[in-house]
Amino acid sequence: MDISNPSEEHIMLREMVRDWTQENVEPQALEYDREEKFNLPLLREMGEMGLLGISAPEEYGGAGLDATACAIVHEELSASDPGFALAYLAHSMLFVNNLAKNGNEEQKQRILPLVCSGEWIGAMAMSEPDVGTDVLGLSTTAVQQDDGTWKINGRKMWITNGCLEEDDTPADVVWVYAKTGIDDKGRVQMSTFLVEAGMPGYSVGQKIYDKTGMRASNTAELVFDDCIVPAENLVGSVGESIIHMMRNLELERLTLAAMSLGIARRCLDEMNKYASERSAFNTQIRNFGQMQRYIGESWAKYRAMRAYVYDTANNMSLGKAGQRLDSDGVKLFTSTAAKEIADAAIQVMGGYGYVGEYNVERLWRDSKLLEIGGGTIESHHKNITRDLFKTPEVINN
Ligand SMILES: Cc1cc2nc3c(=O)[nH]c(=O)nc-3n(C[C@H](O)[C@H](O)[C@H](O)COP(=O)(O)OP(=O)(O)OC[C@H]3O[C@@H](n4cnc5c(N)ncnc54)[C@H](O)[C@@H]3O)c2cc1C
Repeated sequence: MDISNPSEEHIMLREMVRDWTQENVEPQALEYDREEKFNLPLLREMGEMGLLGISAPEEYGGAGLDATACAIVHEELSASDPGFALAYLAHSMLFVNNLAKNGNEEQKQRILPLVCSGEWIGAMAMSEPDVGTDVLGLSTTAVQQDDGTWKINGRKMWITNGCLEEDDTPADVVWVYAKTGIDDKGRVQMSTFLVEAGMPGYSVGQKIYDKTGMRASNTAELVFDDCIVPAENLVGSVGESIIHMMRNLELERLTLAAMSLGIARRCLDEMNKYASERSAFNTQIRNFGQMQRYIGESWAKYRAMRAYVYDTANNMSLGKAGQRLDSDGVKLFTSTAAKEIADAAIQVMGGYGYVGEYNVERLWRDSKLLEIGGGTIESHHKNITRDLFKTPEVINN
């Protein structure tokens, strides 16, 4: 059995996304990276294909597909353009899936059809200028007013899709975490809000330029300055953000891992082709032992990545926590492996590998983000070690 294509439906999905990516994503990847531009019309097109709401229920305009399907789409997009894939992930996983799993009926009916079609583009805002890994150290606050509305104050940093155009058009809707108090045990209480474009006090602080990689996705600082949000835009109950995060984080990490897999696959393919095309000392460079080490090790890593990504995906139930060990484990392993494989590809391709036209240098730059975003590799070390303390029996299962 091929665990990366466990059903006929998955095979068809992969073929459809691969063909569409080849035709539409691949030709624009180099230019959008070079110019640090986000291809908004192309992302919207994915709505027509039913991919923007891939994991959302069909009754709200989604495709109702599983974690394996989500991994397939991210792998295929990332094999061409990880920056574009990251924008897709921020929309479809960090916003759409979050709302589908955590929103109430009114919120889902009102917003999901808009984000599944691509009419609205969403983002998720957790990180701040002074806080990333230490989530509970956040300083953005939300205070309920006498009329029931919430007033949000603070800044969010590094938000993918935070701005949509060069003119600072903010995301149509943002999933925002804010501090709403301290609970009985003295712990920070965090709540989740849906902030929509046009709400007073919500704006783009700056588009962040000069990123190492993922330059085809827009990253922005968002400002909430006495931002007024209606009572009905609180998600769930006050203080529930940790539950929301738990329900979404595993799929987020799995799909980031699938992005690493796409990078690895493409880099392996590029170095393998090049090793036949290039000759030195009257022989193909693939005949040199040192080149064989790059190619051989990359193949073995790529196969291990693929097995771990799809094993985790096939065991994941959307909306339920429980696979953190593997969602952290697979992202930890694949992010560094993708970076190493991209590095090997540049080495095999020599000077050509070092320039944009040959793609692998872009993929190498993009791969680095996957060791940072969605949880740093150090946070995965910490979570895995903590979870193995609690459930050591899983090692021998
Ligand atoms: C291109 C890009 C896109 C992004 N998109 C989004 C987005 O859409 N939404 C969003 O909310 N965020 C986004 N982020 C932010 C990203 O999630 C954070 O950068 C990440 O969580 C790390 O936070 P930080 O940068 O504040 O680093 P810090 O948390 O300050 O970490 C700095 C270093 O300290 C280490 N460290 C911290 N705590 C510990 C610990 N307990 N033990 C060991 N080491 C530790 C870290 O591992 C890291 O090496 C994005 C970032 C980038 C660069």
